[in-house]
Amino acid sequence: MSALIDTSKQATGTRGVRLEIDQVGKVFGVGTAAPFEALRPLSIDIQPGEFVSVVGPSGCGKSTLLLMVAGLLEPTTGVVRVGGKPLNGAMTDVGIVFQDHLLMDFRTAQDNVLLQGIIRKLPMAPVRERTRELFDRLGLSPSAAKRYPHQLSGGMRQRVSLARALVLRPSVLLMDEPFGALDALTRLQVRSDLEQLWMTDRPTVLFITHSVEEAVGLSDRVLVLSPSPGEVIEELHIAIPRPRPLALGEIPALADYSKRIYDHFARLGVIHREPIKTGAS
Ligand code: ADP
Repeated sequence: MSALIDTSKQATGTRGVRLEIDQVGKVFGVGTAAPFEALRPLSIDIQPGEFVSVVGPSGCGKSTLLLMVAGLLEPTTGVVRVGGKPLNGAMTDVGIVFQDHLLMDFRTAQDNVLLQGIIRKLPMAPVRERTRELFDRLGLSPSAAKRYPHQLSGGMRQRVSLARALVLRPSVLLMDEPFGALDALTRLQVRSDLEQLWMTDRPTVLFITHSVEEAVGLSDRVLVLSPSPGEVIEELHIAIPRPRPLALGEIPALADYSKRIYDHFARLGVIHREPIKTGAS
């Protein structure tokens, strides 16, 4: 049965399922002269409908983790369980958004989204209706829906790729730096749109980012990874009501959470804080 038609998960107020990442680690080049540990075995037990971010410096293994959770890359150790069942191959009831929109250039924006239903041979009327609803909620006009990706701004393209990820109302949403290529203002808006959409269906979310503010602003829980090979050095529960404001600076507690993360990165040498020199010497 298609996820669009399946209403069985709505009674709990969430479409999300439990996502268990159990001692999942990755060594590239096992059996070669130079194996490389990209990610230390890591465990995260994500509850149905929970929004969890993983934040860490570049190269610490975040994307590797996401690919393993999606079932697109084989872990060296550990297992991923979705709704209690070990993942065997690529996850199916999932939406994925990468930094690169990965839209097909020869399909219009709406046809890129509708393709999700066509591939799965679903009845298309509800898929079309859902596509219209998502475009409307993401501020994509009917004329934008008929344009090709190269005729859209970067922010619009990324909104289309968010619509594509959510069109079949997946149980799990995986995102890897989805707003990394957007300008600051577009980033704020799309982040807020994402929160609103997530609050409607409450899929289980794993969000990968190197933006501390974005992780703290969006999440119920943030895991902080060390530099390579990544391992969890902090776990923060962000107990701030939703919807959160567009300008996260309005909530002082969020700045406190961010500071805790930056302090870890300063201690580990990921960022340096030099004292500011003032006046003539
Ligand atoms: P992040 O997303 O945190 O920036 P990645 O998960 O992309 O980090 O990469 C972690 C480390 O693993 C990096 O040093 C990267 O070069 C290495 N790596 C990623 N993919 C491969 C691969 N297929 N083969 C070998 N090394 C890889």
